[in-house]
Amino acid sequence: MDPWGTIARLPRREIEELQNRRLRYFINRYLYPFSPYYRRLFDQNKIRPQDIQGVKDLQRIPFISKTDFLATANDNDRNRDFILQPDKQKIRASWPPTELASLALTKIVRGQTALEDQLATEFKPVFMTFTTGTTNRPVPFFYSNYDIQNLGISGGRMLKLFDIKSSENILNMFPYAPHLAFWQVVFGALSANALALNTGGGKVIGTEGNIAAIEKLKPSIVLGVPGYVYHVMREASDKGRNFAFIRKIVLGAARVTLAFKLKLIEMLTAMGAKDVAVLGTYGFTEAKSAWGQCPSGPGMSSPSGYHLYPDKEIFEIVDPKTGQVQKEGRDGEIVYTALDARASVVMRYRTGDFVKGGIRYEPCPSCGRTLPQLSSDITRLSNITNMHFSKVKGTLVDLNCLDNIFAQIAAVDEWQVEIKKKNDDQFDVDEIIIYACARSHTNQDQAESELRKKFLLTTELTPNAFHWISRPEMVKRLELETANKEKRIVDKRPKE
Ligand SMILES: [Zn+2]
Repeated sequence: MDPWGTIARLPRREIEELQNRRLRYFINRYLYPFSPYYRRLFDQNKIRPQDIQGVKDLQRIPFISKTDFLATANDNDRNRDFILQPDKQKIRASWPPTELASLALTKIVRGQTALEDQLATEFKPVFMTFTTGTTNRPVPFFYSNYDIQNLGISGGRMLKLFDIKSSENILNMFPYAPHLAFWQVVFGALSANALALNTGGGKVIGTEGNIAAIEKLKPSIVLGVPGYVYHVMREASDKGRNFAFIRKIVLGAARVTLAFKLKLIEMLTAMGAKDVAVLGTYGFTEAKSAWGQCPSGPGMSSPSGYHLYPDKEIFEIVDPKTGQVQKEGRDGEIVYTALDARASVVMRYRTGDFVKGGIRYEPCPSCGRTLPQLSSDITRLSNITNMHFSKVKGTLVDLNCLDNIFAQIAAVDEWQVEIKKKNDDQFDVDEIIIYACARSHTNQDQAESELRKKFLLTTELTPNAFHWISRPEMVKRLELETANKEKRIVDKRPKE
């Protein structure tokens, strides 16, 4: 039985004590003895594992970030050092006598093979997902069977949070890929004993196939990436389908605006659904886990945060410039420490995600759970530096804001922004081309002038051209049915 229900109601002090205890246990029993990277890091910084008594001592351990496990010219497999690598000697040297005795007993009673199987189940990498870096080569993150069990636990916790019972059906439209989102739902549904259809998104069975699957399965919860879920719902609503059974839409792998959620709800309501909630999730490869938004929040205009799993991880919020740990509720970069992982393990991992409102520890005003709550106002710190098209026409553009501009214009259904060089000449000036697809019965001229105004106001840039195009053409441009993530912003300029 997963103890989350009990943990979710513990007083704050008991949750803190639980985390301190788990941290000590994890560092002494697993991280320091078995992780080549962290053993080196501790030794180099003269940190003894027993020096870390609780969360407050974490600050002694240096941060790591993606750059620490990306391949370099000299070392292709740096990420391997993050995998726990136990052997007989290390186990003997670091585990307490009671646990060693239990291992010895297994060997005597069930034999050497049984003992090896037991250790392999806990430690041996058997599964992997990859980070979806835009500029870097993908890095694998490994799971043992123990981690797969944890992946099921976190997925099951989300379904519980969203109030989905095992008698209700689930439709998973996350793209079939070695990415966390798809598998989080697969294993979550398995562990919750719920019936799920994992369609793999548009690439595998097409949009028609997804719509047919929804009609047949009548899921009360549909999960996927925002762009594709929207596309499917839009197509279904155009065809006059009845989706009255859908209660919850759960989105992952991208940031969504309030305006986007409202559009989606409006569409589903028109298809017969009542009181639909659109909820976000937050997760990343290195955590091998995702977290869901509290569904009983005060309302759409002030979205609730993500309920965390304090027995599985520690989150810190730090100043992105100084690394200083921020006080409760303050803005900063999200830093993650695993408390119960095997195979690939990270500690004090700087996610590159910036959260406004940080973490709150008082009981949730909506559901009463005492779990720490991470604000859902999260943006990528790296959006500006990671993507090559941050500087357009010499102006630094915050691409996070484009979503918001378009979502505010009701007449726009889908959009794409293309950045290119004039005449495709690499030395010429930058050009911004907007493609938009209109909803039926709307005033396109008015929408266009409104959009141009908002665009200029927000980005200080004037689009060079504006094209209204048909939905099929837009679906192709965005690669909605073929790519894992829609091509919302396309930079066609040659890379520097
Ligand atoms: Zn809550």
